Order: sequence, then C-alpha cells, then structure tokens
Amino acid sequence: MKKLILAMFLLVVGVSCKSQTQVISKDTEAQLSTPKLVVGIVVDQMRYDYLTRFYNKYGEGGFKRLVNEGFNCKNNHFNYVTTKTGPGHASIYTGTTPKYHGIIGNDWFDKNLKKNVNCVEDNSVNPVGTDSKDGKKSPHRMLSTTFADENRLFTQFRGKTIGISLKHRGAILSAGHTANGAYWLDYEHDGVGNWITSTFYMEELPKWVDDFNKSDITESYFKDWQTLYSIDTYFESGDDVSPYEGGFKGKEPSTFSYDLKQLRKNNGNFDVIAESPYGNSLITDFAIAAIDGEQLGKDEITDVLTISYSSTDKVGHTFGPNSKEIEDTYLRLDLDLERLFKTLDAKVGIGEYTVFLTSDHGAPYAPGYLQSKKIPAGFFDESSMRKEMNSFLLNKHGVSNLVLSRINNQIFFDHEAINENNLDLEDLKEEVALKLLEYELIDKVYVTSEINQLEAPEGYIETLLSNGHSQKRSGEVLFVYNPSVFNDTSWNRTGTDHHTGLSYDTHVPLLFFGKGIRHGQTLQKTEITDISPTISALLGISFPNANIGQPLGFIFE
Ligand code: ZN
Ligand code: ZN
Ligand code: ZN
Repeated sequence: MKKLILAMFLLVVGVSCKSQTQVISKDTEAQLSTPKLVVGIVVDQMRYDYLTRFYNKYGEGGFKRLVNEGFNCKNNHFNYVTTKTGPGHASIYTGTTPKYHGIIGNDWFDKNLKKNVNCVEDNSVNPVGTDSKDGKKSPHRMLSTTFADENRLFTQFRGKTIGISLKHRGAILSAGHTANGAYWLDYEHDGVGNWITSTFYMEELPKWVDDFNKSDITESYFKDWQTLYSIDTYFESGDDVSPYEGGFKGKEPSTFSYDLKQLRKNNGNFDVIAESPYGNSLITDFAIAAIDGEQLGKDEITDVLTISYSSTDKVGHTFGPNSKEIEDTYLRLDLDLERLFKTLDAKVGIGEYTVFLTSDHGAPYAPGYLQSKKIPAGFFDESSMRKEMNSFLLNKHGVSNLVLSRINNQIFFDHEAINENNLDLEDLKEEVALKLLEYELIDKVYVTSEINQLEAPEGYIETLLSNGHSQKRSGEVLFVYNPSVFNDTSWNRTGTDHHTGLSYDTHVPLLFFGKGIRHGQTLQKTEITDISPTISALLGISFPNANIGQPLGFIFE
C-alpha cells in the first residue's frame, strides 16, 4: 500500500514536473519565435464605420483579409482630447496620452516662446533631400519612447525601424527617437514631390530613396481620378454634388472625374496627389521600396515598419465623410492594402509578419449637412471669441490682451502682464470660464486646477481632457463645444474637421493580423493606448517607458 502511495506520489510529481517543463519550453519557444517584421498601419482620419459602411465593396485581400483572418477590436477609442494627427500617432506608438508624451496638438502655443510651435519642428536639424523648412523636423518634443524604440534597445539596435507617411508628423512620431529613418513627402509649400528626411536621422538619403525620387513614379499619379467602379453603384455615400463638400480650385462643382494634371497648377502642385487616393498608392509604392531597400523582415531579428496613409485625411477634410470621393478613396486604399500584404507574403513570408491597422482619429459629418437633417450642429467663431474675452477683461481690469492664444480649445493667458499688473491668475481663469459658458455652442468649461484633480469614469469627457492635458504645455482654461460643432475657419465650412472627445472622433478601427494573432472579434472596449503594450507583449520586450495601456491578451494565439 505504502509503495502504491509512493508510486502515485511520484507519478503526480512526475506529471506536474513534466507539465511545468512543457509550459516553460512552450513559453520559451513562443518568445523566440517573434515576427520578423511588425507593420503598423495608421489610416489617417478613418472612422470605424468606414470599415463596415464600404465592407461589401472591399476585395478579399485588403481590409477583409484583416477581418477574416485576424482579430477585430470593434469598440476601440481614443482616450484623450485633442484628437489630431500628431497626438494620435504619438499615442498609438507610445501607449500613453498627451499628458505623458507631451504631443498635445499638431501645433500648440508655446508659453515660453509666446508663439505657436509645430509638434515636430526642430530648428537644430537640417533638411535632407530638400531645402524646404519642411525638412527641419524631428521627434524631439515627444517625451516618451515608442514600442519601436524599445525594440531597438532590446535588439541592441539590430532590429530596424523605418517610418513612412506623406505627413512629417505621421512618419516621425510613429517611428520614434531611434529610427533608422523616417521619410515624408516634400509636397507642402510648393515642395518638389520628393521623399525627404532630416539630419536627425542621417546626413544623406539612402540610394533606394534617391532612386525612388529619380524615378517617374510620383509624376505618374498626375492622371485622371475616375471612380473605381461605376459611380451609380456607390449607394453608401451621398450625392456627388453637395453644398457640404469642398473641392479643387478650378473644378466646380466637385464631381468626378478629376484631371489632376490640369488641376496641379492652381492647387499646390503635389498637393493634388496628396488630396486624392493616389497619395496612398504612392505611399504603398514607397513602403514596398523600403521593404526591399532596407531588407526589412529578412532575418530573425524583428524590424518595425510604420506606414501612415495620409490621403484619407486630406480627402476627408475637403470632401467630407459622406462624399463619393471618400468612398472611392477607401475602395482604392483597400486595393493598396492588398498589394502591400501580397508583397509582405512574398518578401517576408505568410505568417512571418504581424500587422495592426488603426487610425489617428475619426471625423464627424459636416455640421451643415447634419443641420439639414435636423441634427444639432454648428460653427463657432473662436477668433471673435478671443477678442470678446480680451475686451471683457480690459473692461474689468484695465489691461489689454490678457488672452494670448486660444488654440486646441484652450485659453492661454499672458503671465507677464498678469504679474506686472498684480492680477490674480486663478481669478482670471474663473472669470473667463464663466464668461465662456454664456456662449450657446460652448457646453463645458474647466480650469486647469480642476482638470488636474478630476476623477471621472473611463470614457467620460473629464477623463479625456485630463489624459490630454500637460501641466507644462497645455492652456489654462479648457472649453468643450456641443456635439458636432467646429471652430469656424475658412476651410472647414465644407468637408470635415476633428479634435473632440466625442465618439465620431474617438471611435476608430483596430485590427490585428498575422504571426501570433488569432482570428476573432470583440465588442469589449479597447483604447488606443493598448496597441503598443500589446505589440510589446507579442515581442517580449519592455513596454514604452510612459505606457499606460493594457496588453490585449485575448488577441493572441
Ligand atoms: Zn490625422
Ligand atoms: Zn463630389
Ligand atoms: Zn485631419
């Protein structure tokens, strides 16, 4: 009997030891077998419903391949304001919010310099591949690391990082501080359409970039933009002629087709490519050239390629979420994604790479369009508001221009004038806050002392404001419009704009696909800051240094 018990004991111990070894070896195996390449795709200004609204028209190899083979997080949101491109890319790749990474807008009012600064402008670096000041850019204002930075540290800088976008901020903030290269298109301010970078990364362009610039690829996109399929079949969007859509100069009304060769002269030259679906095709061409040129995903050490598709945002701003133009842009992007994935299959190998696809913010329908359908919406004139606040404070305190700026729905005071005149900053904040609430289209106002102490549930606007608020960089009074209200500028009366914490701006797709990812979907809420820790967990590397996100373990095989 004793022997039997001993035997059973040994058996149990033996079994448990064995299973433990199995668990350990399986884990080790999992750690060693990471993807050869991680491809992060950000589709600029992609509302979640662009995935579902146009779904039946997508082919099998693009968006649908990610949905059918990968994992679909259907309830994925930004968890801060301001929902703009710079903060969006920074938050996706750092796993944290503007409160920590410091990218509080595309531009913001610098309290020390007393002027607006751009999130990636850097006068200490020089352009490479251009003379334009659009080459004087780096990630120096982003305070924390991206997962690609952590991958560089982890691999002793053997794993590469390359960032690509038409927009400098889309390329730079994604790739992080330690990237081998970040490339963007020299198209703004009469740029010459070359892919460029800055001395932050290198002294001269690599041969493959130079070769690409010398080729006629970019020039070839000055062609006719027709709809991909017969326009009569585009039931998922509104009329081609609409009072709520903008367009190119010299092409009124904004109807298909668009002769980009003819339009380039009066519409910023290469800007017309950026503002058409062909900008995304150009990005795909360049990304494929980068995979070859940099030999990405060729060895066992994980590389990172970040691609930001910018033209969706440009087309969205101009024509709006309900336009035929945006529908066509997504149907064509779908084909570009298919082409990219086929290239990755061939060059890196099916099942050897991991992709995620998301967006840097969504966008609302045009306020005018919503009003025409009896949905509350509107435009608010912030320039007049600043003048009105300043005359209110002048009347009250006898000091002019106390409000220096009102950018990103924040008010910035002139601290020098406040000190010189012995005024009380806290009093001024309260006075302006109460005055702002008198405007019909302003719904909520907070002063910074409140924002720093607010404790609201996840998803509440107060939490989003707090997550987006940098004590050093942000303004001192924060105001929130009613839903579907824009700052009234000359360029956003038609089309769309984005910046809020409301669901049309926060709800974006999140799809994972490829090595280590199981097939599935969830309606559980995920946040944009979860992406980076998820990829870090997949790679077995440290989370970005200011990470606040949670790894989404349920997507793993
Ligand atoms: Zn954007
Ligand atoms: Zn149109
Ligand atoms: Zn935008």
